[in-house]
Amino acid sequence: MSAPRLDVDLDLVTHNTRTLVDRLAPRGIRVTGVAKATLGSRDVAAAMVLGGASGIGDSRVENLSRLRAAGAAAPLTLIRSPMVSQADRVVRTADVSLNTEAVVLAALSSAALHRISTHDVVLMVELGDLREGVATVDVVDLAGVVAALPGLRLAGLGTNLACRSGIVPDQDKMDQLSALVELVEQRVGHAMTIVTGGNSANLDWALGTSDVGRIDELRLGESILLGTEPLHRQAIAGLRTDAFTLVAELIEVQTKPAQAWGSAGQNAFGESPERGRPGLVRQAIAAIGRQDVDPAGVTPPAGITVLAASSDHLVLDVGDHDVAVGDEISFQLDYSALVRAMTSPFVSTSRVTRPASDAVPLTGGAA
Ligand SMILES: *Cc1c(COP(=O)(O)O)cnc(C)c1O
Repeated sequence: MSAPRLDVDLDLVTHNTRTLVDRLAPRGIRVTGVAKATLGSRDVAAAMVLGGASGIGDSRVENLSRLRAAGAAAPLTLIRSPMVSQADRVVRTADVSLNTEAVVLAALSSAALHRISTHDVVLMVELGDLREGVATVDVVDLAGVVAALPGLRLAGLGTNLACRSGIVPDQDKMDQLSALVELVEQRVGHAMTIVTGGNSANLDWALGTSDVGRIDELRLGESILLGTEPLHRQAIAGLRTDAFTLVAELIEVQTKPAQAWGSAGQNAFGESPERGRPGLVRQAIAAIGRQDVDPAGVTPPAGITVLAASSDHLVLDVGDHDVAVGDEISFQLDYSALVRAMTSPFVSTSRVTRPASDAVPLTGGAA
């Protein structure tokens, strides 16, 4: 098989989804599986749907288009605010989009009218993380704007925390969102059907609280794909952390001085690295680099450490491992490393398992 590549165990993606869906269902919370870290992979999305995800979310309309073209029947949600310039494509591709701007909503409305269709809108509320969101005092008015725009249906409210500033989605924040839902319903006169409380960082709250209020959906990416929660990057009990494995091939294995020599300036990335310790090192170079992966986010097998990375080389101390040129080394990945590996044209993707994604259409709502 070619290297570098990502081995994807789709059964584990399904297992993680199913486990989270089963834990959240008794609380009345559905799971939208977020596929953005996988470049909108059809197979990963299908594995999520097989595990009970009620729909698929992605931040890029291009990824959603690919899923649509692959025959996705599950509801597709654009989880980044649409670009005005993409309004028509968003309406064509996504069933739902998350929104904060009146000018975008107006563009979505005209695009929907033009297509004689209806587009569902969720308004995102700013609750302190300072990325996307409308100020709480403006939410009811913006809801009124959506309600008055033809071609749009106000489906609900949402929020997103812990992404820019690491602000924790706690009971107070979620209570604020639930209270706004009631105010918006009074204003527009119909029930909100999507109250999307957040991402994987919400799991602590969702599984720990006795009161989820009006929250009825979470958008989960990292927890499904990597089995970790983003607040402390701990593994979540019962989930698998090894659904994705990065495999790279060794192109040099030599014993070298551990310490660089000669007069020193900056390296290729403007850094002034430590010269290293005295003595010798069994050093290997894997044919993968910063262009393909975030080197800070890869974990090699026990007994091997990452010494350095340049654009195309990952330099390893292989210790006592009996490795040779041509051998493959497997790495576990964090979210940032996964995103970059999935989006590098040099890293191929291979499916370790193939659950019924051939047989099972991407049909949502099977939770
Ligand atoms: C990325 C993203 C998610 C998923 O976050 P995870 O931490 O991977 O679960 C959910 N909502 C929005 C708006 C996002 O951008």
